[in-house]
Amino acid sequence: MSDPWQECMDYCVEVTKKAGKMICEALQKDISVVQKSSPVDLVTETDQKVEQLIISSIKDKYPTHSFIGEESVAAGAPSILTDNPTWIIDPIDGTTNFVHRFPIVSVSIGFSVKKEIEFGIVYSCIEDKLYTARKGKGAFCNGVPIEVSRQEDIRHSLVLTEMGFKSDPEQFKTMLDNIHTILTIPVHGIRCPGSAAVNMCLVACGSADAYYHIGIHCWDMAGGAAVVTEAGGVIVDISGGPFDLMSRRLIVASSRAIAERIAKAITEFHVGRDDTDGE
Ligand SMILES: [Mg+2]
Repeated sequence: MSDPWQECMDYCVEVTKKAGKMICEALQKDISVVQKSSPVDLVTETDQKVEQLIISSIKDKYPTHSFIGEESVAAGAPSILTDNPTWIIDPIDGTTNFVHRFPIVSVSIGFSVKKEIEFGIVYSCIEDKLYTARKGKGAFCNGVPIEVSRQEDIRHSLVLTEMGFKSDPEQFKTMLDNIHTILTIPVHGIRCPGSAAVNMCLVACGSADAYYHIGIHCWDMAGGAAVVTEAGGVIVDISGGPFDLMSRRLIVASSRAIAERIAKAITEFHVGRDDTDGE
Protein backbone atom coordinates (compact mmCIF):
# COMPACT_ATOMS: atom_id res chain seq x y z
CA MET A 1 0.00 0.00 0.00
CA SER A 2 1.35 3.42 -0.81
CA ASP A 3 2.26 5.76 2.01
CA PRO A 4 -0.37 8.52 2.19
CA TRP A 5 1.98 10.99 3.90
CA GLN A 6 5.19 10.48 1.94
CA GLU A 7 4.21 13.16 -0.56
CA CYS A 8 3.63 15.63 2.29
CA MET A 9 7.05 14.76 3.68
CA ASP A 10 8.78 15.24 0.32
CA TYR A 11 7.08 18.60 -0.06
CA CYS A 12 8.03 19.51 3.52
CA VAL A 13 11.71 18.87 2.74
CA GLU A 14 11.51 21.29 -0.18
CA VAL A 15 9.78 24.00 1.86
CA THR A 16 12.15 23.53 4.80
CA LYS A 17 15.20 23.99 2.57
CA LYS A 18 13.71 27.20 1.19
CA ALA A 19 13.06 28.41 4.74
CA GLY A 20 16.65 27.61 5.75
CA LYS A 21 17.98 29.54 2.78
CA MET A 22 15.88 32.53 3.84
CA ILE A 23 17.37 32.37 7.35
CA CYS A 24 20.95 32.13 6.06
CA GLU A 25 20.36 35.12 3.77
CA ALA A 26 18.88 37.13 6.65
CA LEU A 27 22.02 36.45 8.69
CA GLN A 28 23.99 38.46 6.11
CA LYS A 29 21.88 41.54 6.84
CA ASP A 30 20.95 43.66 9.88
CA ILE A 31 18.74 41.84 12.37
CA SER A 32 16.17 43.91 14.25
CA VAL A 33 14.82 42.33 17.39
CA VAL A 34 11.49 42.66 19.18
CA GLN A 35 10.68 41.33 22.67
CA LYS A 36 7.81 38.87 23.03
CA SER A 37 6.65 37.66 26.46
CA SER A 38 9.77 38.78 28.37
CA PRO A 39 13.14 40.52 27.89
CA VAL A 40 14.68 37.13 26.99
CA ASP A 41 11.88 35.95 24.68
CA LEU A 42 12.87 37.42 21.32
CA VAL A 43 11.39 37.50 17.85
CA THR A 44 12.68 38.95 14.61
CA GLU A 45 11.09 39.90 11.32
CA THR A 46 12.71 36.76 9.90
CA ASP A 47 10.84 34.43 12.31
CA GLN A 48 7.57 35.88 11.03
CA LYS A 49 8.57 35.92 7.35
CA VAL A 50 9.83 32.34 7.43
CA GLU A 51 6.65 31.11 9.14
CA GLN A 52 4.53 32.92 6.53
CA LEU A 53 6.56 31.29 3.75
CA ILE A 54 6.14 27.82 5.25
CA ILE A 55 2.43 28.11 6.04
CA SER A 56 1.47 29.74 2.74
CA SER A 57 3.44 27.17 0.72
CA ILE A 58 1.80 24.26 2.54
CA LYS A 59 -1.69 25.80 2.58
CA ASP A 60 -1.55 26.20 -1.21
CA LYS A 61 -1.03 22.49 -1.62
CA TYR A 62 -2.98 21.13 1.37
CA PRO A 63 -5.79 23.64 2.04
CA THR A 64 -7.69 21.39 4.49
CA HIS A 65 -4.74 20.75 6.79
CA SER A 66 -4.30 22.49 10.16
CA PHE A 67 -1.33 24.47 11.45
CA ILE A 68 0.26 25.25 14.77
CA GLY A 69 3.04 27.77 14.17
CA GLU A 70 5.04 29.51 16.88
CA GLU A 71 4.52 33.01 15.50
CA SER A 72 0.87 32.43 14.57
CA VAL A 73 0.20 31.32 18.15
CA ALA A 74 2.07 34.40 19.44
CA ALA A 75 -0.30 36.45 17.26
CA GLY A 76 -3.35 34.77 18.84
CA ALA A 77 -3.98 31.63 16.76
CA PRO A 78 -5.08 28.57 18.77
CA SER A 79 -2.55 25.95 19.79
CA ILE A 80 -4.76 22.87 19.96
CA LEU A 81 -3.89 19.54 18.46
CA THR A 82 -6.82 17.81 16.73
CA ASP A 83 -7.07 14.58 14.71
CA ASN A 84 -6.81 16.57 11.46
CA PRO A 85 -3.47 16.43 9.63
CA THR A 86 -1.53 19.17 11.42
CA TRP A 87 1.77 20.86 10.61
CA ILE A 88 3.56 21.96 13.77
CA ILE A 89 6.08 24.62 12.83
CA ASP A 90 8.94 26.46 14.44
CA PRO A 91 10.25 28.77 11.70
CA ILE A 92 13.42 29.56 13.68
CA ASP A 93 14.26 27.32 16.60
CA GLY A 94 17.07 29.19 18.30
CA THR A 95 16.04 32.81 17.79
CA THR A 96 18.49 34.02 20.46
CA ASN A 97 21.28 32.22 18.59
CA PHE A 98 20.06 33.78 15.34
CA VAL A 99 20.10 37.27 16.88
CA HIS A 100 23.69 36.75 18.05
CA ARG A 101 24.75 34.85 14.93
CA PHE A 102 25.63 31.88 17.14
CA PRO A 103 25.69 29.16 14.50
CA ILE A 104 23.03 26.71 15.75
CA VAL A 105 19.70 27.71 14.23
CA SER A 106 17.07 25.39 12.80
CA VAL A 107 13.75 25.14 11.04
CA SER A 108 11.60 22.48 12.70
CA ILE A 109 8.45 20.93 11.28
CA GLY A 110 6.50 18.00 12.66
CA PHE A 111 3.43 16.54 10.96
CA SER A 112 0.77 14.82 13.03
CA VAL A 113 -2.36 12.86 12.11
CA LYS A 114 -4.79 11.71 14.80
CA LYS A 115 -2.38 13.29 17.30
CA GLU A 116 0.44 10.94 16.25
CA ILE A 117 3.59 12.36 14.69
CA GLU A 118 3.96 10.86 11.20
CA PHE A 119 7.18 12.59 10.18
CA GLY A 120 9.60 15.26 11.34
CA ILE A 121 12.09 17.48 9.57
CA VAL A 122 14.73 19.57 11.32
CA TYR A 123 17.07 21.67 9.22
CA SER A 124 20.11 23.04 11.03
CA CYS A 125 20.60 25.51 8.24
CA ILE A 126 23.96 27.12 9.06
CA GLU A 127 25.55 23.67 9.41
CA ASP A 128 23.51 22.55 6.37
CA LYS A 129 22.36 19.42 8.19
CA LEU A 130 18.91 18.17 7.22
CA TYR A 131 17.45 15.66 9.66
CA THR A 132 14.47 13.67 8.41
CA ALA A 133 12.37 10.89 9.91
CA ARG A 134 9.25 9.11 8.71
CA LYS A 135 7.43 6.95 11.26
CA GLY A 136 8.67 3.36 11.02
CA LYS A 137 11.29 4.15 8.40
CA GLY A 138 14.30 5.37 10.39
CA ALA A 139 16.05 8.69 10.83
CA PHE A 140 18.56 10.33 8.53
CA CYS A 141 20.96 13.26 8.41
CA ASN A 142 21.55 14.49 4.85
CA GLY A 143 20.25 11.11 3.66
CA VAL A 144 22.61 9.02 5.82
CA PRO A 145 20.97 6.80 8.49
CA ILE A 146 21.60 7.94 12.08
CA GLU A 147 21.15 6.26 15.42
CA VAL A 148 21.50 7.07 19.11
CA SER A 149 24.62 6.14 21.09
CA ARG A 150 22.83 3.35 23.04
CA GLN A 151 24.74 4.54 26.11
CA GLU A 152 23.15 3.03 29.25
CA ASP A 153 25.33 4.58 31.95
CA ILE A 154 24.56 8.17 32.78
CA ARG A 155 28.03 8.63 34.26
CA HIS A 156 29.43 8.19 30.75
CA SER A 157 26.99 10.55 29.12
CA LEU A 158 26.93 14.06 27.71
CA VAL A 159 23.66 15.76 28.65
CA LEU A 160 21.95 18.66 26.88
CA THR A 161 19.53 21.16 28.36
CA GLU A 162 18.76 24.86 28.02
CA MET A 163 18.97 27.56 30.62
CA GLY A 164 18.00 31.18 30.70
CA PHE A 165 16.60 33.86 32.94
CA LYS A 166 13.24 33.07 34.53
CA SER A 167 11.16 35.80 36.14
CA ASP A 168 9.75 33.34 38.71
CA PRO A 169 12.53 33.05 41.36
CA GLU A 170 11.40 29.60 42.47
CA GLN A 171 11.48 28.21 38.91
CA PHE A 172 14.83 29.85 38.33
CA LYS A 173 16.29 28.21 41.42
CA THR A 174 14.83 24.78 40.53
CA MET A 175 16.28 25.01 37.01
CA LEU A 176 19.76 25.77 38.41
CA ASP A 177 19.44 23.12 41.15
CA ASN A 178 18.56 20.54 38.48
CA ILE A 179 21.75 21.39 36.58
CA HIS A 180 23.72 21.04 39.81
CA THR A 181 22.09 17.66 40.54
CA ILE A 182 22.82 16.28 37.06
CA LEU A 183 26.44 17.53 37.10
CA THR A 184 27.11 15.91 40.46
CA ILE A 185 25.85 12.42 39.46
CA PRO A 186 28.42 12.98 37.81
CA VAL A 187 27.99 13.09 34.03
CA HIS A 188 30.72 13.93 31.51
CA GLY A 189 29.24 17.37 31.01
CA ILE A 190 26.22 19.52 30.18
CA ARG A 191 25.86 21.54 26.97
CA CYS A 192 23.24 24.16 26.04
CA PRO A 193 23.33 24.50 22.23
CA GLY A 194 20.30 26.82 22.06
CA SER A 195 17.92 24.98 19.71
CA ALA A 196 15.64 22.31 21.20
CA ALA A 197 15.12 20.68 17.79
CA VAL A 198 18.87 20.45 17.17
CA ASN A 199 19.39 19.13 20.71
CA MET A 200 17.04 16.25 19.95
CA CYS A 201 18.85 15.57 16.68
CA LEU A 202 22.22 15.59 18.49
CA VAL A 203 20.90 12.80 20.71
CA ALA A 204 19.49 11.08 17.61
CA CYS A 205 22.91 10.93 15.94
CA GLY A 206 24.82 9.93 19.09
CA SER A 207 26.64 13.25 19.62
CA ALA A 208 24.94 13.53 23.02
CA ASP A 209 23.26 10.91 25.20
CA ALA A 210 20.35 12.85 26.68
CA TYR A 211 18.41 16.10 26.60
CA TYR A 212 15.90 17.36 29.13
CA HIS A 213 13.88 20.56 29.22
CA ILE A 214 10.96 22.06 31.10
CA GLY A 215 9.23 25.06 29.50
CA ILE A 216 9.53 24.38 25.77
CA HIS A 217 6.62 24.22 23.31
CA CYS A 218 5.10 21.69 20.93
CA TRP A 219 6.70 23.43 17.92
CA ASP A 220 10.14 23.01 19.52
CA MET A 221 9.54 19.28 20.02
CA ALA A 222 7.41 17.89 17.16
CA GLY A 223 10.04 17.63 14.42
CA GLY A 224 12.85 16.45 16.68
CA ALA A 225 10.62 13.93 18.47
CA ALA A 226 10.16 12.03 15.21
CA VAL A 227 13.89 12.13 14.47
CA VAL A 228 15.01 10.88 17.88
CA THR A 229 12.34 8.18 18.09
CA GLU A 230 13.22 6.82 14.65
CA ALA A 231 16.92 6.89 15.58
CA GLY A 232 16.19 4.44 18.39
CA GLY A 233 16.00 7.01 21.19
CA VAL A 234 13.65 7.12 24.13
CA ILE A 235 11.34 10.08 24.70
CA VAL A 236 9.40 10.46 27.93
CA ASP A 237 7.74 13.06 30.08
CA ILE A 238 9.91 14.77 32.70
CA SER A 239 8.18 12.56 35.31
CA GLY A 240 9.33 9.45 33.43
CA GLY A 241 5.75 8.78 32.21
CA PRO A 242 4.52 8.85 28.59
CA PHE A 243 5.61 11.80 26.42
CA ASP A 244 2.89 14.37 25.78
CA LEU A 245 3.55 16.79 22.92
CA MET A 246 1.45 19.56 24.50
CA SER A 247 2.95 19.27 28.00
CA ARG A 248 5.89 21.66 27.44
CA ARG A 249 8.45 19.24 28.90
CA LEU A 250 10.43 16.17 27.95
CA ILE A 251 13.40 13.91 28.45
CA VAL A 252 15.09 12.43 25.39
CA ALA A 253 17.77 9.77 25.84
CA SER A 254 19.87 7.12 24.16
CA SER A 255 18.38 4.46 26.47
CA ARG A 256 15.52 3.96 28.90
CA ALA A 257 18.03 3.63 31.75
CA ILE A 258 19.35 7.15 31.19
CA ALA A 259 15.87 8.62 30.69
CA GLU A 260 14.74 7.10 33.99
CA ARG A 261 17.86 8.28 35.82
CA ILE A 262 17.26 11.86 34.69
CA ALA A 263 13.56 11.67 35.58
CA LYS A 264 14.59 10.58 39.08
CA ALA A 265 17.20 13.33 39.42
CA ILE A 266 15.27 16.41 38.43
CA THR A 267 12.60 18.38 40.21
CA GLU A 268 9.61 19.51 38.16
CA PHE A 269 8.18 23.01 38.10
CA HIS A 270 4.86 24.12 36.71
CA VAL A 271 4.82 25.75 33.29
CA GLY A 272 1.25 25.13 32.07
CA ARG A 273 0.37 23.40 28.79
CA ASP A 274 0.38 24.51 25.16
CA ASP A 275 -3.28 23.55 24.67
CA THR A 276 -4.80 25.46 27.59
CA ASP A 277 -5.06 29.19 28.07
CA GLY A 278 -2.61 30.75 30.51
CA GLU A 279 -0.88 28.82 33.26
MG1 LIG B 1 11.08 29.83 17.13
